[in-house]
Amino acid sequence: MSAKDMLPIDRDDASAAWFDAAADGRLLIRKCPAGHVSAPHTTTCPRCGSTTLQWIEAAGTGVLASYAVINRRDADPLPVAIVELDEGPWMRMQLQDVDPASLATNDPVEVRFAAPEGGEPIPYAVPRAAG
Ligand SMILES: [Zn+2]
Repeated sequence: MSAKDMLPIDRDDASAAWFDAAADGRLLIRKCPAGHVSAPHTTTCPRCGSTTLQWIEAAGTGVLASYAVINRRDADPLPVAIVELDEGPWMRMQLQDVDPASLATNDPVEVRFAAPEGGEPIPYAVPRAAG
């Protein structure tokens, strides 16, 4: 499991269920009673304003909505992305195992998790094989 260039983060009461699922390799997102889905960090439905959000499991696949490559003086370039999940929500995460020069929007990706320094699992994206 890769954790290159990732820093550990801490859970809180609001994120505990999310991190528990992530530790099993499952990506959870939010869903309101009207059926709108949103990103995991959401506390209010961006479409209807509901604050009654439940966790649902996402497929863990999506496409690059956008990306950038951070060029660093003494380290490899660091690609970061906004991933549009198949369910619709966008999530920011690092890209791993990619050639930064070959990236393009709408590239298919899948979400994986790494636990930097033995901490909580953090999502990152890798290229998804075509077909
Ligand atoms: Zn809603």
